[in-house]
Amino acid sequence: MSQFDLSGKVAVVTGGNGGIGLGMARGLAGAGATIVVAGRDTKKNAEAVDALSTAGARAIAVQVDVRDKASCQAMMDAATKAFGRLDILVNNAGTNIRKQPQDYTLEEWHTVIDTNLSSAFICCQLAYPIMVKAGGGKIINIGSMMSILGAAFAGPYGASKGGIVQLTRSLATAWGKDNIQLNAVLPGFIDTDLTRAARKQVSGLDARVTARTPAGRWGNPDDLAGIAVFLASPASDFVTGAAIPVDGGYSVQGG
Ligand code: NDP
Repeated sequence: MSQFDLSGKVAVVTGGNGGIGLGMARGLAGAGATIVVAGRDTKKNAEAVDALSTAGARAIAVQVDVRDKASCQAMMDAATKAFGRLDILVNNAGTNIRKQPQDYTLEEWHTVIDTNLSSAFICCQLAYPIMVKAGGGKIINIGSMMSILGAAFAGPYGASKGGIVQLTRSLATAWGKDNIQLNAVLPGFIDTDLTRAARKQVSGLDARVTARTPAGRWGNPDDLAGIAVFLASPASDFVTGAAIPVDGGYSVQGG
């Protein structure tokens, strides 16, 4: 059997209705996993499920607001009720508010931190007893280049994404004994709704990213499919607590 086979596995992907989440969901589905697409926008959720189903996957949509613990609990309940198990959790839902640090309100700070970081902690906590009962599991947390680099317009975002890496390391050390592997993926600049907004707002960003990326291009959501399969599959059973850039070389460009 392939080390990358996910047949019979069930994956919850927060923010799985578009962008990087959907790219990862397509990868996981292609390796045989059943997908729970979890996002706020029911239309986007339904379209993602349609696309996955048309490609031959088993998939359902669950509406969730990851800032709300009760909503996350309902998402986990819906997944386990539909399929009786949860093997893979992808904490991908995220947002950004781009401003100079001195201009944020406290509410804006909390919007970004709660969506990107607290949500991952909440979903990990909720997945833990289910995975322990099943004898193990895989959790993939989505960081960013802002997990390791700074940007003037990304104060709360950078704090949330740096936090994702440290959260991943802490939980990996705590739950190794339970056969739960947690890893963070740090995408480079990927063409999605989020970065289309950034390219409008941050002057020169598009060209700067292309120039700095050794691959010579922006990424696309399907560039994240392979790492998702690897980190969700038995191939990565001895990989935990890692933070893996998938960035076309952006983070190692020193020239
Ligand atoms: P998108 O805007 O395409 O996707 C964001 C996803 O998050 C959407 O599916 C959205 O669903 C969901 N989401 C946002 N807020 C909530 C919420 N409160 N509850 C539930 N779902 C929510 O952007 P990306 O695909 O680019 O972003 C995905 C992740 O990748 C984020 O964590 C982002 O920080 C990270 N990332 C992106 C990079 C890039 O270059 N694109 C680079 C590095 C990291 P809905 O609309 O239904 O709410």
